Amino acid sequence: MGQKVWLNGELVDREDAKISVFDHGLLYGDGVFEGIRSYGGRVFRLKEHIRRLFDSANGIRLTVPMTADEVTKAVTDTLQANGLKDAYIRVVVTRGVGTLGLDPNRCRSPNVFIITDKIELYPRELYENGLEIITAATMRNHPNAVNPRIKSLNYLNNILAKIEAIDAGTLEAVMLNHQGFVAECTGDNLFIVRDGLLFTPPIEAGILEGITRDEILAIAREAKIEIREENLTRYDLYVADECFLTGTAAEVVPVVRIDGRQIGDGHPGPVTKRLAEKFHRRTRS
Ligand code: PMP
Repeated sequence: MGQKVWLNGELVDREDAKISVFDHGLLYGDGVFEGIRSYGGRVFRLKEHIRRLFDSANGIRLTVPMTADEVTKAVTDTLQANGLKDAYIRVVVTRGVGTLGLDPNRCRSPNVFIITDKIELYPRELYENGLEIITAATMRNHPNAVNPRIKSLNYLNNILAKIEAIDAGTLEAVMLNHQGFVAECTGDNLFIVRDGLLFTPPIEAGILEGITRDEILAIAREAKIEIREENLTRYDLYVADECFLTGTAAEVVPVVRIDGRQIGDGHPGPVTKRLAEKFHRRTRS
């Protein structure tokens, strides 16, 4: 059985899952999306992801042509049709087919599709030994441009930063905001540990309010680890005892080198390991 894609209410073969070249999602990156995970057949934090999808859509004045319950059912149906238990789920809502002008009001109806696939994580070795990252020259979107809280189809800024990372021989890059403070990585939120305290940039720094980030903050609170949502500079990263990234696909990834500086003792730290372990248990329980 081939892969099935959910497209506007129907489960179609992968080869038939097509969108018009006149869709503004393609012409202008006009649309929103979510990346979600399922573990052992259970979708992790689906409600939160769907809420963020609807918030993102609202942020760009796009009406999702479905209810939250309908999206939930569509996600479950797609997983089932593909016989997937541990999967990555991509939900996309585009503005739909329109004219060559920008005007979104001339787009007839949004297109919605859901792709489920095997998860693609960083190599196992990176979770054990840690990742090296750099700071990108490309900065994160200004919150008064496309607010980074909106998970839009416009990822070019992040892609440019990702190219910088790859050029530097690394897999991820830290993006700073317009004030020079640390925002986040191209597809993950960032945390550091210093003197036993857990630091992460606040939402106002211009970041995506990551669902994994929220989960890590909740786990840290439970574990009585003190949390500081504070602006961080590059220098704060260099002098951290530990650093790690969080995201739906990547989960919790230790970082051991930033811009050529070794972080802590150059190995994933105890707080990182503890939080990763607790997160792992939450997702699989
Ligand atoms: N920041 C950015 C820019 C992202 O694209 C993502 C999701 N890939 C994240 C952070 C992490 O968010 P979440 O934990 O909700 O996956």
